[in-house]
Amino acid sequence: MFENLSDRLGGVFDRLTKQGALSEDDVTAAMREVRIALLEADVSLPVARNFVKAVTSKATGASVTKSVTPGQQVVKIVHDELIKVLQGEDAPEALRIDNPPAPILMVGLQGSGKTTTTAKLAKRLTEREKKRVLMASLDTNRPAAMEQLAILGQQIGVDTLPIVPGENAVQIAKRAKQQASLGGYDVYMLDTAGRLHIDQVLMDEVQAVRDVANPRETLLVVDGLTGQDAVNVATEFDGKVGVTGVVLTRMDGDGRGGAALSMRAVTGKPIRFVGLGEKMDALEGFDAQRIAGRILG
Ligand code: GDP
Repeated sequence: MFENLSDRLGGVFDRLTKQGALSEDDVTAAMREVRIALLEADVSLPVARNFVKAVTSKATGASVTKSVTPGQQVVKIVHDELIKVLQGEDAPEALRIDNPPAPILMVGLQGSGKTTTTAKLAKRLTEREKKRVLMASLDTNRPAAMEQLAILGQQIGVDTLPIVPGENAVQIAKRAKQQASLGGYDVYMLDTAGRLHIDQVLMDEVQAVRDVANPRETLLVVDGLTGQDAVNVATEFDGKVGVTGVVLTRMDGDGRGGAALSMRAVTGKPIRFVGLGEKMDALEGFDAQRIAGRILG
């Protein structure tokens, strides 16, 4: 998904590394191109600006420009700054799902991939961390969404909370909590209802559920193809309900990558996972090193 950015940066750095000796002006000119490439990838303007500033100040020193391989050193500086912008100063810790039953609240707009991601993550926790997981759909507006989660649960061999018609989201959350305790589950995941846009009704409901469940993790699922919009959605959700991490879906698509590059810097929230397809195994732990590697080819 970073193909365009990767191609653009590849071109810039090819020229730099082939050039041999570098002046400060060469570096500045290259960084101007990097800035444009980032903006074209839908990276937010302040993030692109800060990125280029940080790289320029490190790359224009004599220790780089006078070194034997200045171009390669610039690439290394860009690589390190990419990792910083992708994950902040530190790689995120593991999900806080000790103390069973640990609630994970899944939030996001309708169509972002929330239900699919809930099931993918449940599968991952079951298989990799040997957790007993219970999933519950709180989407009382859309019975089809509840059934979708139940079907996915059957497919991946993860239990779902039985559907009781007529309950509201808070009642379902309470029942999930009770069932998770009584049933000896390690984790219970609450797949909240989404809406097409952020509105007060959605936020009120998510807040009410949050207050009942007291989640250890609140994971926001956003469509990675939507670039800066994804970052705006994250900022709003975080302001209203508080999120602990972000899952970027559809990173298998031909998006430009801006969401991944801006998310941490703009919202301060770590990207935890990326969705790479519709299949239940298409969820990857977010790895800034790997993404930086993909971007730089
Ligand atoms: P929700 O309304 O947020 O619960 O969205 P769904 O989980 O129902 O997902 C909407 C559509 O997006 C479904 O067709 C999913 O298969 C698809 N989808 C979800 N995650 C990904 C992903 O990472 N990549 C791709 N290509 N499709 C995805």
